[in-house]
Amino acid sequence: MIFKIVLAANLISFILSGIVFIIIRIISGWFSLVYFIIIFLITDAFLIYGTFERKSLIFGKTFWKSQKSDMAISITFDDGPNEPYTSQILNILDTFNIKATFFVIGENAELYPDIVRKIANNDHEIGNHSYNHEVLPLKSPAFTKNQIRKTSDLIEKVAGVRPELFRAPHGWRNPWVNLIAKEEGCTPVAWTLGVWDTDHPGVETIINRTLGKIQSGCVLLLHDGRGTEQNPDSSQLVRALPIIIQKCKEKGYRFLKLSEMIKESGKR
Ligand SMILES: [Zn+2]
Repeated sequence: MIFKIVLAANLISFILSGIVFIIIRIISGWFSLVYFIIIFLITDAFLIYGTFERKSLIFGKTFWKSQKSDMAISITFDDGPNEPYTSQILNILDTFNIKATFFVIGENAELYPDIVRKIANNDHEIGNHSYNHEVLPLKSPAFTKNQIRKTSDLIEKVAGVRPELFRAPHGWRNPWVNLIAKEEGCTPVAWTLGVWDTDHPGVETIINRTLGKIQSGCVLLLHDGRGTEQNPDSSQLVRALPIIIQKCKEKGYRFLKLSEMIKESGKR
């Protein structure tokens, strides 16, 4: 999929550079292959960076870190619900009496509507993570809108709350993903720190990657599922989570739901 997206970016850059070049040539009669290549490379780099870099402003702002949240962190879980792991995570959060944000996939929510309801009833936040985790950069505006709206409708139906946050699958975007998310009432968000927990690197590694880089204003990305895979194993995260939370508490961190952090940072 990355190859396809890069190929599309190359093609679009080639066409755009060609158009710019033809216009310049018509106006001034001037032509240089070197300048064509420079325009092409710059356009290509912009498109590829804007697509894959979640912090990039090229395709619009996403909230990925708080500059104003002193000693606050926000724990987020993507790709659920996925049982029994989501329930186990909810129990851990309850034990520590902290709140988190769950970016739910619509297709997974259909499998576990009770868990979606439980997330909301336990006063955690539910975000929208698309309907079936399709990567969006090569999808049409209509497809993107459908992915977001269908999932928000579903979450509202089963849990009684409509998501106010949207996180694109893998954080990959195109020029219309952020705009459509906002039209659907969602703030586009990303994350500060990901620990690649879906690769099953081991409990110790998940803990060390998290504690080694956590800081004030951090949006921590963890996973209670893995895309739309049926019942992937998230047990390493479940074992790592209590230790991560305990250590963060000892360091004096506050735990905010993501929309609370966004409000505190004055971004909404
Ligand atoms: Zn995801």
